[in-house]
Amino acid sequence: MFPLARHTVLRAARSQLYPSSRALNQSALSRLLSTLAVLEQRDGKLQTSSLAAIAAAQKLGGSITAFVAGNAVKGTAAAEAAKIKGLEKVVAVENAAYDKGLPENYAPLLVENIKNGGYTHVIAGHSAFGKNLLPRVAALLDVQQVSDITGIESEDTFVRPIYAGNAILTVQSTDPIKLITVRGTAFQGTETEGGTAEIVDGTDPNAPCPTEWVSEELAKSERPDLATAERVVSGGRGLKSKEDFDRLIPPLADALGAAIGASRAAVDSGFADNSLQVGQTGKNVAPQLYLCAGISGAIQHLAGMKDSKVIAAINKDPDAPIFQVADVGLVGDLFEKVPELTEKLKQ
Ligand SMILES: Cc1cc2nc3c(=O)[nH]c(=O)nc-3n(C[C@H](O)[C@H](O)[C@H](O)COP(=O)(O)OP(=O)(O)OC[C@H]3O[C@@H](n4cnc5c(N)ncnc54)[C@H](O)[C@@H]3O)c2cc1C
Repeated sequence: MFPLARHTVLRAARSQLYPSSRALNQSALSRLLSTLAVLEQRDGKLQTSSLAAIAAAQKLGGSITAFVAGNAVKGTAAAEAAKIKGLEKVVAVENAAYDKGLPENYAPLLVENIKNGGYTHVIAGHSAFGKNLLPRVAALLDVQQVSDITGIESEDTFVRPIYAGNAILTVQSTDPIKLITVRGTAFQGTETEGGTAEIVDGTDPNAPCPTEWVSEELAKSERPDLATAERVVSGGRGLKSKEDFDRLIPPLADALGAAIGASRAAVDSGFADNSLQVGQTGKNVAPQLYLCAGISGAIQHLAGMKDSKVIAAINKDPDAPIFQVADVGLVGDLFEKVPELTEKLKQ
């Protein structure tokens, strides 16, 4: 078992001060909250999911400690994290065995450091890293994870979409430690400069790892990252072939300085790489502009892009469901409209 002292204090303070959780005085409560933001790093560089975890921790209030582990991270990812505004300290564990974030040994490592810190909340991004890691941590701590949250109502109440975003669930956790993954598009605005957090050594239990990281193949692109781009141009099955997708979509994306996305039908048909899929089983995006052509607007696609600020759609079918969520719609043949639009944007 691990010490629950901080939580017990929190509960006692709450019950003395407030008859109901609705009447919580957030500022008094926030002094008792302490969150561990689990940072994801790749080759010593912090990933955007880490910033989302910190943004969520800031929304929650209270003190924030960041955690990062991997090969020589103190001089790289931990130093980068120390500059983030609002962090009290950065706990770093330097060991190459944790570099790839394998959950088999990373989970016991994290549990050890959670126990040491007595945190009330542990937050990670809802990326492959967070999704892989936190369920094991939850099992080891015997608490229930709250996944993929898009909102924080109070210290124990969180909002998360279910059924591909068709229903929104408000969930209250009674667990002593709230273990949470956060949707990146819902938590933004972390200031990456101006902080002066202290970097301290974490505990390394040197847990054995029964799996071995062998290799990975990453799609490389000079374009903006799809998950965080300000503008996204997506193509669907209406593009008809990979040749047409490559002929029409990249020039339009270039004209807008946008990332490229695709529907699952386009990915399954081989028009675009799997890493470009937007939707329930792909990436969640919320750019300033989401411009799509030849995409019908199936609910599974909408689940990944309907939080975009402006949605523009080109489709030859005026009854296509995409027009129900689009702010701007163009009914027409994409083989004419896309090159025309690209030319106009270039001018
Ligand atoms: C469990 C599950 C998970 C899924 N996850 C995802 C996901 O993550 N992402 C996702 O996208 N889908 C997902 N899907 C699939 C989803 O249901 C749809 O099948 C898919 O989104 C359809 O892709 P599309 O809009 O490109 O193709 P279609 O539905 O075939 O639509 C093509 C559109 O192109 C238009 N069009 C055709 N020719 C032209 C032209 N010349 N000019 C203009 N318009 C034209 C048509 O009018 C049509 O609206 C999932 C499905 C399941 C069951």
